[in-house]
This record gives sequence, structure tokens and C-alpha cells, in this order.
Amino acid sequence: MAKQAVQLTKKKRTKYRYQKLKMCKKCNRYSVLKDQNCSKCGSAYVGIERLVKTIFKNRLLTEAMWILMIVSIGIVAAPTVQTLYYSLIAGLIFCISYVILTFVFMKSEFFTQLKRLLRADFKRIQSGIQFDSELAKADVKEERLAPAYEKLREIGDFIYSDQVKIRRVMVLNEIILRSDMELELEPLIPSTYDKDFVHYALEVLRINRTLITKKCIAYFIHYRDAIVIDFGMDSLMTVAGTSLRMKLYIVEFSEFIEEFLEYFPKERVLRLCNILYSNPEVDWGGLLEKTKHLVAMKYNYDPDFKRFVS
Ligand SMILES: [Zn+2]
Repeated sequence: MAKQAVQLTKKKRTKYRYQKLKMCKKCNRYSVLKDQNCSKCGSAYVGIERLVKTIFKNRLLTEAMWILMIVSIGIVAAPTVQTLYYSLIAGLIFCISYVILTFVFMKSEFFTQLKRLLRADFKRIQSGIQFDSELAKADVKEERLAPAYEKLREIGDFIYSDQVKIRRVMVLNEIILRSDMELELEPLIPSTYDKDFVHYALEVLRINRTLITKKCIAYFIHYRDAIVIDFGMDSLMTVAGTSLRMKLYIVEFSEFIEEFLEYFPKERVLRLCNILYSNPEVDWGGLLEKTKHLVAMKYNYDPDFKRFVS
């Protein structure tokens, strides 16, 4: 299958993960997808925050009714006018303190209620996400890759399993990647070696090197043997070259860089020299000596390296 050219929409960001959860009250089904309406019955989803607030409001109402009832009983059962006043005043004080306390603890009450709901509906949430996942699978089958990826991306924000990560990567590998796409790499790193992931990471490296983070380089080093077998030595070399992007990475992966030093193009070596010489206080291990040696052997008469040749 030839790669598809698609347009991916921007990801919907929320402060908390739970805010992505919504529910179709008709089907009693949860979803984490971006859709505003239930894909089964078409009714509008209700966000989890609104759901919790409704439960909270209902609880408050019930409690207020109870208080009112107790006060009324007090009034009705009062033997004298004086006790009637007493029960009225007591009821009023109780009501006011109840309202004040509720407002003071509103936020923590909200989270308590939310936790309770998430715990109680855990199984239903799970099966809702499973349903979302089936929808994504159907999209892949029909070769609707953009909506499939967008669904998996939303699910991936909720479930950090290797299975979801690899499914996302597999869809991405069928898409023509462009630098203007909102791509992710670090959140997709699986816990074991995966050929599809490495394939994707190498593609990303080609279009946006800034996505190759410390964790990603560490992954390449950890599974280097398998990567060399599947993708050749050049892939490792490119990653080593990418780690020259930041001083921090050079310190962290100095041994790895050292291995491929002599294969780097001139401008990379120049960049490395610049960083090494402008940070003499850093312990670069054997990298500094090896770079000096390389410069002496290869660039001794190159004017660009003049200030690094002693
Ligand atoms: Zn529904």
C-alpha cells in the first residue's frame, strides 16, 4: 500500500487527563474521542465535569431537603412559641453554616465526587475506550488513516500501553509525514524493541530532529544491536549525529558519540569542537582527546578548524 497524504487536525489539549472523558447518557457509554456526538445514537456527549457537577448538585439538594424536613419537624413539634423560635434559629444557623462549608470545600468535594465516579464506573469506562478503539480499527481497515490516527491519539493520551503506542506508530508509518504535522515521538517509545517504532523514529529524525530527545537516543543505544540488524549502521550514526544538538546530550552520550566521531560530516565535527572548547570546565571523558586527535589528523590544515589546532 502506498503511503497516504493526509491532513491531521490539531490535538485537543486538556489540563487533566480525566477531562477528555465524556458520556452518552442514552447508551450509558463513555468515550475519550473528540466527537461531540455519540457515534452509536447521535445524542450529544456530556463531559465528565458536568456529570460530576450534576451528581454533586443532586446530592446537595437531597441534603438540603433533609435539613428542611428536620427543621419543619422541630417547628411542628414545638410545644411553646419559645421552642418554636429556638428551632427556627437553630435551623437557620445550620443552613447557613452548611452553605458556607459547602462553598469552602467545593473544590475538594468535586474531586472526591469525581474519584468516586471514576472508581464506580471503571469497568464502563474501560469498555467505552475499547469501543473507541474498535472504531479506530474500523477506520484503519477502511484506509481512513487520518481519523484512525486521531482516534488512537486520543486513546493514547488515556492509555499508555505498548499496544496503543504500536498501533499509532503503524498508522503513522502509512502516512506521508510532514514537518508541519503535530508529531510526537517520546510518548510513543515502547517498553521493548519494536521495528515499526524505530522505522517511525528514523522518519521523524529526517523531518524534525528536535523531537529526538534524551529518552529516544537512550532507546537507540539500548537496542542498538537489533537496530543495526534491521536498519544498518547508518541509522545509529545519524542518531549519534543528532545527539550533538545539545551540550547536555553530548555529556550524557559522549561514549556513543565517540564511536561514530570519524564518520561525522565536517560541520558536525565543527559544531562539536565549538561546544567542547567553549565549555572547558566540563568533564568530556575520552571524547575531547578523541576529537582533538581527529582534528589533528583530518582537519589540520582546514582554516575553519584553525582555532582548534594547537
Ligand atoms: Zn449514545
